[in-house]
Amino acid sequence: YSKKEEKMIEAHEFAADFYHHLLMNTEDGEQALNYLLKRGFTKELIETNGIGWSLPTWDTLSVLLKRKGFSLEEMAECGLIIQKESDHTYFDRFRGRIMFPIRDENGKVIAFSGRIIDSVDEAKYLNSPESPIFHKSQVLFNLDKARTTIRKKRQVILMEGFMDVLAANQAGVYNAVATMGTSLTTQHITKLKRLSEQIIICYDGDNAGWEAAKRASEMLHSERLKVEIAVLPDKLDPDEYIRKYGPENFVQQILDKPHAYIAFMMMHARRNKNFQFENDVLQYIQEVLEQLVGRSSPIERDLYIKQIASETNISEEAIYAQFRKLEAN
Ligand code: ATP
Ligand code: MN
Ligand code: MN
Ligand code: MN
Repeated sequence: YSKKEEKMIEAHEFAADFYHHLLMNTEDGEQALNYLLKRGFTKELIETNGIGWSLPTWDTLSVLLKRKGFSLEEMAECGLIIQKESDHTYFDRFRGRIMFPIRDENGKVIAFSGRIIDSVDEAKYLNSPESPIFHKSQVLFNLDKARTTIRKKRQVILMEGFMDVLAANQAGVYNAVATMGTSLTTQHITKLKRLSEQIIICYDGDNAGWEAAKRASEMLHSERLKVEIAVLPDKLDPDEYIRKYGPENFVQQILDKPHAYIAFMMMHARRNKNFQFENDVLQYIQEVLEQLVGRSSPIERDLYIKQIASETNISEEAIYAQFRKLEAN
C-alpha cells in the first residue's frame, strides 16, 4: 500500500470502530442490534467481526473524518463519503445501515457492505465502490480469518453471501469465504489455489445459486482444482438452512456430503426436465456428455454413461456412440 492508501485504510479502521461503537453502546444502534440478535448473531460474532451501525444522518462520519484531519477528497476516493455535484460539500455514503467491514488478507478494513434493516425499495446491500484499496474482483470475505483453517483442513468452502459465512462461523465452520456480490473471478481462484486444492461450493439453493454454482465449478474444474458442490434444499441459503436445521445437521448432511463435479452437473442438467418428453431426454444426454468430453477419466465415463442409460432408458452403446461423436469434434 502507498502512503495515500495507508491513510484510506486508517480511515476505514476508524469508521469501523465508530460504527461498531454505535451498534453496541448507543440507543441509536438498538434496533439494528436487536435485528442481528433476532437473526441469531451472538454478541461474540458481532465483536469478532466488528459489525456496526451507521446513523441515518447525512454527514456524521464526514464531519468526524474532517475533524480527524483526513483529506475529504481522499475519503471520497475510497468511497466512505460522497461529494455533492451542486455545492461540492460531502455527505456519508452509508446511512442507516448495518455495517459489515470487509478486510484484506491481513485483516485490515478496506471496504464496507451496509445492509438496510427493512428494505422498502432501496437495495438490500450497499457496497463500497471500487477504489485504490478495494478491488471487488480480488477480495474474498473472511479470507483473513479463514486462512489458517483452510490450510489445516486443506479445504475451502465457497459461499455466496457474507451472511452465510458468518452463520457458518457460528456453526463452527471456519474455512468459509464469500465473493463480494460478484461472481467468482480468475483472481479469486489464484488466491484460493495458493491455500488449498480442494474447494467445496455451497451456494444458495435457489435458481440463481444453482446457475452460479455451475459457472463457478466449471471455472474451478478447468483450473484443475478438486471441486465439489454441497447442495441446499428448498431454495434455502446456508444461513437459512443453519437456522432451520441447526449447525450439526448442516455439517453432517450438507458439507460432509458434497457432490462430485460431474454428479452435480448431472443434477443440474436434470433440473426442470421431464423425461416423459423426448426433447428433454435428448437435451439431458447432450448436456451431460458435453461435460464428460475431454474432462473425464475412462472410469468416470463408464460410471456416468451407465447412469445416464439407466435414467433415460437409452442403451449404453448409443450413448457411447454419441460420446465418441462429440469427442471427435
Ligand atoms: P440476507 O440473508 O441478509 O438477505 P444474503 O447473503 O442471503 O443476505 P443474497 O441476496 O443471497 O443475500 O445475496 C448474496 C450476496 O450478494 C450478498 O452477501 C451480497 O454480497 C451480494 N449482494 C446482494 N444484493 C446486493 C446488492 N444489491 N448490491 C451489492 N451486493 C449485493
Ligand atoms: Mn442469492
Ligand atoms: Mn442468500
Ligand atoms: Mn440470506
